[in-house]
Amino acid sequence: MKIGILGGGQLGRMLIQEALKYDDEFYTLDPASDAPCHNISYFTQGNFNDYDTVLEFGKDKDVVTIEIEHVNADALAELENQGVKVVPNSQIIKTIQQKILQKKFYEENNIPSPEFEIMDGSSDEIKMPLPFVQKMNTGGYDGKGVQVIRTNEDMKNLWTQDSVLEKLVDIDKELSVIVARNENGETQTFPVTEMVADPKLNLLDFNVCPVHLTEEIEEQIDSITEKFLAAVNSPGLFAIELFLDKKGKVWVNETAPRLHNSGHQSQEGNANSQFEQMYRVVKNLPLADTDAIIYSGMLNLVGAEGFSGKVIYEGMEEVLKLPETYIHLYGKTETKPGRKMGHINVLADSREELMEKLIQVKAMVRVIA
Ligand code: ADP
Repeated sequence: MKIGILGGGQLGRMLIQEALKYDDEFYTLDPASDAPCHNISYFTQGNFNDYDTVLEFGKDKDVVTIEIEHVNADALAELENQGVKVVPNSQIIKTIQQKILQKKFYEENNIPSPEFEIMDGSSDEIKMPLPFVQKMNTGGYDGKGVQVIRTNEDMKNLWTQDSVLEKLVDIDKELSVIVARNENGETQTFPVTEMVADPKLNLLDFNVCPVHLTEEIEEQIDSITEKFLAAVNSPGLFAIELFLDKKGKVWVNETAPRLHNSGHQSQEGNANSQFEQMYRVVKNLPLADTDAIIYSGMLNLVGAEGFSGKVIYEGMEEVLKLPETYIHLYGKTETKPGRKMGHINVLADSREELMEKLIQVKAMVRVIA
């Protein structure tokens, strides 16, 4: 089967890496000539936001999927009209691309998500009480396009673009759950993972699994995933990012309609990885079991502050000496501050041991130039 992927980044790369054990041809589209997928797939250099480029790329594929959601969804809709299978479908991609539509989707489907107000130039007065979070309707990713407005003074910095103003949640934990649905309507859910963010870069730092939650909290999450999967009306693999607040209530922050950084530890920690699952979704195959087989965690390898240029992974040989520790690099030659260059997965027999190992590994490596 000819499988086309919009985006040629690390998510596509790890999908192809996993799927090479089956018999398919992978085609990728990315603007960067040295994108992580450029030398492991049939690669087209081009803009996945451009209507004609996406149409041309997709028209001779059996199925087209995405590894980034900022793509030209109108072109995907046209491909669907022409009989190309698109996973996930263009409609859900459009909904998720726009924060305003995404928030309405949660509201309509009774999925708990923080209270919000739409700021789109049609209303002149902001009613949302301080403090709140402003999220741009389009164009935000990795913490860009999100700002906290705490005081009247901060109100001067409000972006003027269309956006969502959202109640600031008193966050206890940031959790993530990856769900999958194939064309036959079969569904499967990964165990919940917990994210520990780096406050400075706003990028995911550690990600651990499984997470010990009370039955009551697990029930809230089950209810969210069930409602989401019933409402989504598309095959796909989706990462639902959750907030657990200090009162024990679970809220949906946002959903990514694709493979996700918060699922990388599944490569060695679960019976099957998110990449295996994505492959099965794309091909409408029976979904894989997702059980956590051990405690697992992931450390993002991001470019250190102050270094730009040809990448050097300092301390890597020391890491390779550690048991139950797995390095995944993304094939990026140039580092810059905050750039995601790879990750390291670590396995352990308990949460305590896992955290110790992750902290140890983090102290060992540095991504420099
Ligand atoms: P992105 O898509 O850029 O990752 P998010 O919507 O996930 O943006 O926001 C980035 C971070 O900002 C979140 O991980 C969380 O820490 C914080 N944040 C977002 N929304 C809220 C909120 N309503 N209340 C408190 N913190 C929030």
